Amino acid sequence: MTGPERDRTGWKLMPFDEVMDTILGSTRLLGSEEVDLADAAGRVLASDIVSDIDMPPFDKSAMDGFACRSADLDRPLRIVETVAAGRMPEKEIGEGECARIMTGAAVPRGADMVVMVEYTEEEDGIVTVTRGSGRSNICLLGEDIRRGETVLEKGSLIRPSEIAVLAAMGNAKAPVAVRPALGIAVTGDELAEPGEPIRKGMIRNSNGPQLMAQAAETGLSAEYLGIVPDTPGAVPELIEHMSGEIDVYIFSGGVSMGDYDFVPGGLEEAGFELLVHGAAIKPGRPLLFGRHEDAWVFGLPGNPVSAFVLFEIIVKPFCFGLMGHAYRPLEVTVRLGSDFTRKSAVRTAHVPVRLTPDGWARLIEYHGSAHINAYTRADGILRIPAGVESLKKGEEVRIVVPGPPRRANGLR
Ligand code: AMP
Ligand code: MG
Repeated sequence: MTGPERDRTGWKLMPFDEVMDTILGSTRLLGSEEVDLADAAGRVLASDIVSDIDMPPFDKSAMDGFACRSADLDRPLRIVETVAAGRMPEKEIGEGECARIMTGAAVPRGADMVVMVEYTEEEDGIVTVTRGSGRSNICLLGEDIRRGETVLEKGSLIRPSEIAVLAAMGNAKAPVAVRPALGIAVTGDELAEPGEPIRKGMIRNSNGPQLMAQAAETGLSAEYLGIVPDTPGAVPELIEHMSGEIDVYIFSGGVSMGDYDFVPGGLEEAGFELLVHGAAIKPGRPLLFGRHEDAWVFGLPGNPVSAFVLFEIIVKPFCFGLMGHAYRPLEVTVRLGSDFTRKSAVRTAHVPVRLTPDGWARLIEYHGSAHINAYTRADGILRIPAGVESLKKGEEVRIVVPGPPRRANGLR
């Protein structure tokens, strides 16, 4: 740890890693509940899932074809029965015999392989094998999952693949972590909601809709709390009004050093302890994070790119921490498409890039944290660690890919 850095603006800046440690270190689990399997996607498992069966539950044919003995492949085989999926075979396969069998059906005793139907010819109930494949085409009992085995671990993200396993294990409901209730508020007397008239000097509130969309895309439930005026009493008033209903408040704007930046003072008045205010992160220098007995708060700078990036790289991991999932965004290693230099390397910087299918990150036009449409052209965030002033074209770089959570279990 390098200790708090001071940049030229006089802010005391907490290093990026320390910010993450402080924020993630203040999480606790909010509890667990059961939800229908149909509603479980995107949630986090609250307990281990142990299999009550072997998978497959019997030796199963992987092909439509004929079950027979591998020693008999070069002789004509008499069909003794047909085994459909869902039915158990009635006969045992003896020398010179076979059973017509469908994919997913139980393999009859006596047979040690299934010849796929495409590799056979059939006439008058007699099968001739025309080609060998060297494969048994049998999925053996318990080869995928053993009874008693832990198939899914507590803390795992439930994605469609996990839903499949839960369903196969007979779970109509899934035990999941309680999601935090997010409350998203924007501050600024210059703001008007989209659809409302604006006067000269005003702009439209884009952070509210942007943050709500980020929360929704992440599978987090968020309530929009509206535009908060730039007055000293507005923030504590809102918090008192919402008391008990919100776990994580997210404010945008009003967290910096301006005359009308009333959020930090308002949060202290509302009883929050401010654990972070000033971070060596670009964009995001005025980032604020605080904790109360039963709630947490983020103050994100008002500039739209700051709010976007900080939600992706900090708010999301925090919210998943409250659910027991060590969320890490998807990261890819690619080569940088052009040289990058910057004047000051005090902060860990994030800039938008476009990923090409052949493994390059192209820097795109970016004018800074107010450049609202920069990320509409980007699909990745290039992180440049503090202390790194320049990067060379062709150098390998790590790119954070924003979007919904994708990784199974961040703990691994
Ligand atoms: P602040 O962090 O309040 O100093 O705001 C920084 C910049 O972001 C200012 O130019 C604000 O007008 C702008 N801004 C603040 N809140 C929003 C918002 N909700 N939507 C769009 N821009 C905003
Ligand atoms: Mg403001």
